[in-house]
Amino acid sequence: MEALIELRGVTKKYPLGERSEVTVLEDISLAVRQGEFLGILGPSGSGKSTLLRMMAGLVKPTSGEVLYKGRPLDGVNPGVAMVFQTFALYPWLTVLENVALPLLVRGYPWETCREKALQIIDMVGLDGFESAYPKELSGGMRQRVGVARALIAEPDVLLMDEPFSALDVLTAENLRRDLLKLWLEEKIPTKAIVLVTHNIEEAVYLCDRILVLSRDPGRIIAEVAVNLPHWRERKNPRFTALVDEI
Ligand code: ADP
Ligand code: MG
Repeated sequence: MEALIELRGVTKKYPLGERSEVTVLEDISLAVRQGEFLGILGPSGSGKSTLLRMMAGLVKPTSGEVLYKGRPLDGVNPGVAMVFQTFALYPWLTVLENVALPLLVRGYPWETCREKALQIIDMVGLDGFESAYPKELSGGMRQRVGVARALIAEPDVLLMDEPFSALDVLTAENLRRDLLKLWLEEKIPTKAIVLVTHNIEEAVYLCDRILVLSRDPGRIIAEVAVNLPHWRERKNPRFTALVDEI
């Protein structure tokens, strides 16, 4: 099956002072496959955010190739949306407006955007908060808005950059569980999710495949297939109940 996103022998160097440079990512080859919840696990500074931004077409590799659906990526990747650690919501817009914005800028009429936004807001558990402003919400609720906004245009791939690390332990746990449930129930309108994290438990809980990055330079040092019951039986709704027990 064709990969949604593919990196072939990608290296990324940044200048360090005038004469030297630092290699952040070295010879990275990977594929984001249809239907998977892929984890990129590595310590701080291993180049995880750089890797994700490269998949989004926001950072260009120094050498190597980034492909989207088999074609070399030229500029921003039209098939992805990003969820950020710090939420990155517009403070002067309501929840409804924040979520609707990606559709609105694509030129859809307001009524269509509104209707779709209300559906997704409901899906992420924020029913009743449509008119609230980000500052009136808890961190967990803000990140739910971030997820809703990323999903509204139904991107092929949802890219998540440490989406739970700014949240307290219990809030993060709730959000992870809700996200996994939605994914297992196939309610999330994307073909794959890529989660970047430094939290190994989080990666094992959420992802069905994990790539482990080293630091200095960032290289893929391991690939792990996670074989928990909820992945083996993901097509069977009965087994989504297992998610609560892990
Ligand atoms: P991670 O997300 O795993 O913490 P990053 O991708 O943010 O890693 O950064 C990896 C390394 O690259 C760090 O040492 C960081 O300082 C460096 N780096 C990231 N972006 C830039 C940039 N735009 N210019 C120079 N160095 C950068
Ligand atoms: Mg990072």
